[in-house]
Amino acid sequence: MASVYFAPARIKKWKYADSMPGKLDLLLREIGLSGYFDKDEWVAVKTHFGSEGSHRVVRPVFLRKVVDALKGIDANPFVTDTVRIKGLDYLEVANQNGINSLSVGVPVVLADGLYGNDNIMVKAGEILGEVAIASLIHDVPAMVVCSHIKGHIQAGYAGAIKNIAMGGVSSSHRHCGWKYGRGAMHTIGEGRLLWDEEKCALCLQCEEICPLGVIKFENEVFGYNEDDCWRCGRCTRVCSEDALTLPGDDERFMKSLAEAAKAVLRTFKPNKVIYINFLTEIQPECDCMPAADVPVIQDQGILMSDDIVAIEQASIDILLKAKPLPQSAAIAHGKQGRQSKDILFGLSRKPYRIQIEEAMRLGLGSRDYELIEI
Ligand code: SF4
Ligand code: SF4
Repeated sequence: MASVYFAPARIKKWKYADSMPGKLDLLLREIGLSGYFDKDEWVAVKTHFGSEGSHRVVRPVFLRKVVDALKGIDANPFVTDTVRIKGLDYLEVANQNGINSLSVGVPVVLADGLYGNDNIMVKAGEILGEVAIASLIHDVPAMVVCSHIKGHIQAGYAGAIKNIAMGGVSSSHRHCGWKYGRGAMHTIGEGRLLWDEEKCALCLQCEEICPLGVIKFENEVFGYNEDDCWRCGRCTRVCSEDALTLPGDDERFMKSLAEAAKAVLRTFKPNKVIYINFLTEIQPECDCMPAADVPVIQDQGILMSDDIVAIEQASIDILLKAKPLPQSAAIAHGKQGRQSKDILFGLSRKPYRIQIEEAMRLGLGSRDYELIEI
């Protein structure tokens, strides 16, 4: 049975030890970092930098605590993420969200280079075949995966599996294009965008959000450069009219996340990766969207484990006991007849548990866990 350490968000006393940063310090001591990481070893602190407008990321204060704890055992940490938009722009997003070398105390670097095509092909599985893993994540010997838990329009639940699957793989490969990148998870086959003229309100939000600028409306007709498109799906996600779609399949998508996560983890020796799930500012959508909505679930706390399946299962079990927050999208969806005891499922209607079941089937960990509350 896996151990999952849990620090609840509520404080009992007005003192540092009871604060979230103070409890994170304690969690990092409890898990015993020196049992995983060696002196002078490079350790990637993998997080998501967010986007301009989506500010509810893992806060820099928490990243700093992780970095300081790693420095405390003489490891060599750095903070990283893969490119979602042009690399320099993405570093500026990190900066605006407070994540930079001054705040976290170590370099903040892009895992797959400025152009997002610095990656190495790794065998994945039945669905993806091979995937292009960010070269830095491929090469680094150890990693702490810091994930902001939230909902997701396609994944339903976004946690550690999604953080290393989508976030450990590049958008594009120098020679093979999108087919071995995260677009291969987002869509099936050639994944051509389908535009429904009848439904389109010509709001141009899709054109605005495209990180590559490949969408162009001419004479009110949608057009895009199919060869350059990453199949990132952002244009489809911002389309409130359902006028733009990428052909996909929920079950395949969930399973492909687990498959990509396994490919990423295959590049590490055993006991070289630990996971920290931040159940804070739990909003309905991905941190790559152009805005962050108000949280749908109250802050629950921080979880830590060396078992990716156990920490995801424990996070979901905690979220399932939570109530929807007033004035949030969880309540709004309930009014539209989409109320569900499972708040994240009610928001997206996506069978997100398949991610965790598949990760266990692939041998990434155990859904049986012991929750150790500090
Ligand atoms: S976001 Fe949707 S509705 Fe708006 S222009 Fe694009 S396809 Fe049309
Ligand atoms: S999927 Fe849409 S947003 Fe993403 S690169 Fe292609 S056209 Fe642009």
